[in-house]
Amino acid sequence: MYISTRGNFSEVSASKAIKLGMVPTGGLFVPKKIPIFSTEEIVDMQGKTYQEIARWIISLFLNDFSAEEIRDCVHKAYNLNNFDLPEIAPLHSMGSDTYFLELWHGPTAAFKDIALQIMPYFLSLAMKKLDVNKEIVILVATSGDTGKAALEGFKNVPGIKIIVFYPYDGVSRVQELQMTTTDGSNTYVVAVRGNFDDCQNSVKEIFGDEAFNKILNEAGYELSSANSINWGRLLPQIVYYFWSYLQLLKQKKISQDEKINFVVPTGNFGNILAGWYAKKMGLPIHKLICASNENKVLTDFFRSGSYNRKRQFRQTSSPSMDILISSNLERFLFEITGHDSEKINRWMEDLNKTGQFEVDKVTKKYMDEIIDSDFAGEEETLSVIRDIYHDAGYLLDTHTAVGYKVYQKFLERTGNTSKTVITATASPFKFGRSVFEAIRGKSFLEGKCEFEILQELSRLNNVPVHAGLLDLDKKPELHHIISEKNEIRSQVEKILGI
Ligand SMILES: *Cc1c(COP(=O)(O)O)cnc(C)c1O
Repeated sequence: MYISTRGNFSEVSASKAIKLGMVPTGGLFVPKKIPIFSTEEIVDMQGKTYQEIARWIISLFLNDFSAEEIRDCVHKAYNLNNFDLPEIAPLHSMGSDTYFLELWHGPTAAFKDIALQIMPYFLSLAMKKLDVNKEIVILVATSGDTGKAALEGFKNVPGIKIIVFYPYDGVSRVQELQMTTTDGSNTYVVAVRGNFDDCQNSVKEIFGDEAFNKILNEAGYELSSANSINWGRLLPQIVYYFWSYLQLLKQKKISQDEKINFVVPTGNFGNILAGWYAKKMGLPIHKLICASNENKVLTDFFRSGSYNRKRQFRQTSSPSMDILISSNLERFLFEITGHDSEKINRWMEDLNKTGQFEVDKVTKKYMDEIIDSDFAGEEETLSVIRDIYHDAGYLLDTHTAVGYKVYQKFLERTGNTSKTVITATASPFKFGRSVFEAIRGKSFLEGKCEFEILQELSRLNNVPVHAGLLDLDKKPELHHIISEKNEIRSQVEKILGI
């Protein structure tokens, strides 16, 4: 069963938590109990395929889904039509202690595919189980990558419409074209004159607006979410923490019980939270290293215990991490305070009213034990891309580069010798312009369009352009809506004709 982080809603089934997306009265759903495994039980899974590990982990949390249903979801999502390698998420080693977990082999070249290729199947099944007879409207706020991944996952799924809001001028041209060229009869894409937080806040407000939801219901619609506020998004991400650990074990890179670190380039705190659940379930993790770009609200929070979003928002070369309000932190705090919803309510209210909150000493101590955090500036990010390319012939995208830089800082600061997996969250092609600038210098970009750059990058490395990014410039742009940031709700009304 699933409960609200704010103690303001009755327990619901997994299906209901996925269908609702977030708690209608505010707050997020988390599992009431977390299954915990011994090392022996985890080691027993060594040698299993990605799909088998996915079935194992997912079935633990979706107990109103049958084993056959889960197997069906897993096989429809994780196959060679959608991913370009049978491992789904391969490990790339960099020396003997450091590994990149490449999570970008799916259709849209970012790690969001891992969750969004399977989540539509969860939602369709949930609707069937709950006898939903209304049309589901998925509202998505995106800082760039979730939008396309969600559009691909949900396009042409019967009974569902999907509306994506992205910051106009806040995403790369490739990201924008990926979204605006999406076909499918049920897809809508809206550029918002504002930043990601504006998009996310408006969407959350719409979810929480009872009167508006009543109007929607009367018109035959129900809202849901494909953002990582939906448990159905987080769950599939727990899988690759187990998968990568078991791969290292199988390849004899680590011994049984040996603890490893994970470095996670972080925005909305979804990916790293999945890592925390894996640790809680018994996976031997030493530190989860939270990597931020110049929007380092999380670094400051983990260091000081005080979360303060009142600061200049910066546009960086890692736009999927340009976020000042990390939604999933609420889940993390609820978990580590032993489900203290009173505290969560107080902190979230402070955040809402004053733009900041401060955790108590006990909570801070617990955070210190498991999370390490740091950030990388723009220059540092580009120079890491350049160095790794020259030293190892391996290309990092800007987000993964933030992770690697933060890992270097962590090593210098702590001298820790645990083996470390860095989650590589996007293909370098997805952020080709910045990657090329890092390698060849800014002047090289002059007069070149994004797609010439991709071709050059492909030639330079002798690898094909990621299939999801090829020929984007030749496809027609099908979506043209531009919205002011205070008009998001009326855009929803317009699109749905109410
Ligand atoms: C979404 C995204 C992130 C941030 O992940 P969160 O789960 O929001 O913390 C990092 N890198 C890339 C490439 C992304 O698309």
